[in-house]
Amino acid sequence: MQFCDECGSMMHKQDGEMVCASCGASADSEGSEGFVETASQDTSDVIETSEDAASEGKPTAEETCPECGHGEAWYTIKQTGSADEPPTRFFKCQDCGNRWRDYN
Ligand SMILES: [Zn+2]
Ligand SMILES: [Zn+2]
Repeated sequence: MQFCDECGSMMHKQDGEMVCASCGASADSEGSEGFVETASQDTSDVIETSEDAASEGKPTAEETCPECGHGEAWYTIKQTGSADEPPTRFFKCQDCGNRWRDYN
């Protein structure tokens, strides 16, 4: 919706510009048409797949278990906070099953 700068009446679109029905003033069309919100794009880059949910994650990050000192662990990466925060890495020891996380 756009209103006339001159008289405040409602304007209508005519030949690609906005024209006042009362006084005939015209203005560039803006705002109401062709404006697409981009808010939805943030959710597309969340790093989480159905594969992660179905298993313990990917094999072998070069991590050392804080419990037993074993040098291999399963790991998963999950976006736990909002999209602008770094994803959290979750580990599970391949030897003793201990779980821990890493916040980068
Ligand atoms: Zn007007
Ligand atoms: Zn361990």
